[in-house]
Amino acid sequence: MMTKFDYDLFTIGAGSGGVRASRLAASYGARVGVAEEYRVGGTCVIRGCVPKKFLVYASEYGHGFNDARGYGWTAENIRFDWTKLIENKDDEIDRLNGIYIKNLKNAGAEIFQSRAVLKNKHTVHLEAEGRNVTAEKILIATGGAPWTDENVPGHDLGITSNEAFHLDKLPKHVVVAGGGYIAIEFACIFKGLGCDVCLVYRGEDILRYFDTDVSVQVHSELKRQGIRVITQTTFEKIEDLGGDQKRVHLSSGSHIDTGLVFWAVGRKPSTDGLGLDTAGVEVDKKGAIVVDEYSKTSTDNIFAVGDVTDRVNLTPVAIREGAAFAETEFNNNPSKMDYTFIPKAVFSQPPVGSVGYAEHEARAEFKNIDIYKTNFRAMKNMLTGSEERVLMKLVVDGDTDKVLGCHIVGAEAGEMIQCIAIAVKAGLTKVQFDETVALHPTIAEELVTMKEKFVPNF
Ligand code: NDP
Repeated sequence: MMTKFDYDLFTIGAGSGGVRASRLAASYGARVGVAEEYRVGGTCVIRGCVPKKFLVYASEYGHGFNDARGYGWTAENIRFDWTKLIENKDDEIDRLNGIYIKNLKNAGAEIFQSRAVLKNKHTVHLEAEGRNVTAEKILIATGGAPWTDENVPGHDLGITSNEAFHLDKLPKHVVVAGGGYIAIEFACIFKGLGCDVCLVYRGEDILRYFDTDVSVQVHSELKRQGIRVITQTTFEKIEDLGGDQKRVHLSSGSHIDTGLVFWAVGRKPSTDGLGLDTAGVEVDKKGAIVVDEYSKTSTDNIFAVGDVTDRVNLTPVAIREGAAFAETEFNNNPSKMDYTFIPKAVFSQPPVGSVGYAEHEARAEFKNIDIYKTNFRAMKNMLTGSEERVLMKLVVDGDTDKVLGCHIVGAEAGEMIQCIAIAVKAGLTKVQFDETVALHPTIAEELVTMKEKFVPNF
């Protein structure tokens, strides 16, 4: 079918959401153009989840050599080479970047290495090419970016996660600002690689969006491994001491000297300078694009998916939103993203896995809540001597017996929670959990052997 536009769909941003939507739309016969100003793959592949997980694996070996002694191993002359790790990580990221490009091209999409801005509701300007293209539908999938607190003098002496993946050398000492996903994950990465780490968080409970038992457990695990955690404190000023050294002045009046200041105080939707107003696309006060449940913006032919909409900022969510958009608009199959029971993981050491209601959320919504929880040292650590502990918690609706939430802090928590999420999303009951035979000896068997209700003393 001929239209008066150059493309049926033009996508701005080739990250997880944009690529998924573009490939699917192209597979349904749409003529698709995609613009990306940095690298195809987006935050997740290029400077997020994937390279982060490589750093986590590298960091875990730091503890692993120590633990292996209890199992009879002696490892001598252990050295760690940051440059080697970064090179190997970059090779793999290059490979993945290539696959993303190939997949887009194979699907029939045309890729432009350019920043793209809206000129009006059907026109996109490609800056690198100095020309306009037109499209019947436009998808904005520009993601988000980390920010630093510009009110803090010397804030630009600190780095964000973007730079962390390309440091020339590993610092001896790191100060991290924040108490969310990125702060906790990188604090653990740096600690496992041998740095001294201090985490400065403005609130009381780190990971405050998670169940309180999770926050408390992660806090104590950070301290157990020697990460200094300072709460209810912010940065007042960062001072350059010359060489690689910086001095961080804290709101408490004290200061810390460090080789690296790491801002992990959240991410903001990337909407600046996109020309949204010229196309009538509304944003909220955080700058996130406002969309309906079909990811449609305030302009009827423009859509947005992923972190730029600040709904649930996770890769698999962006992918699903992108797929639902393509199904709806290019396959005549109206589809909405289902945001219930999305499993989450924080790749701290030990990691967190969580799905469904936290205890406080469940108590606010349901009349009778039963809690089952256990806290123990895993079998593996009986020989390593590590005091690392595992927390497992089930939040159950006392009226229907449905398991509403499951929260784990412990080795392989992310792997476990992906599987448990199937049961929780399916609405299985605590009795059905109990009817499942334990697999021994595993950590996960505790999920089906928690018999005693926890009795809170309030
Ligand atoms: P988060 O929202 O998780 O955490 C931001 C942290 O910074 C919070 O502790 C917040 O405090 C604190 N903060 C905010 N503003 C300030 C300020 N002005 N001064 C001091 N502290 C401040 O953001 P992240 O950057 O860690 O991660 C961004 C998002 O990316 C996550 O929410 C998640 O959706 C995604 N992500 C997911 C990962 C995964 O799935 N494993 C890994 C990394 C990121 P407070 O708690 O008081 O608000």
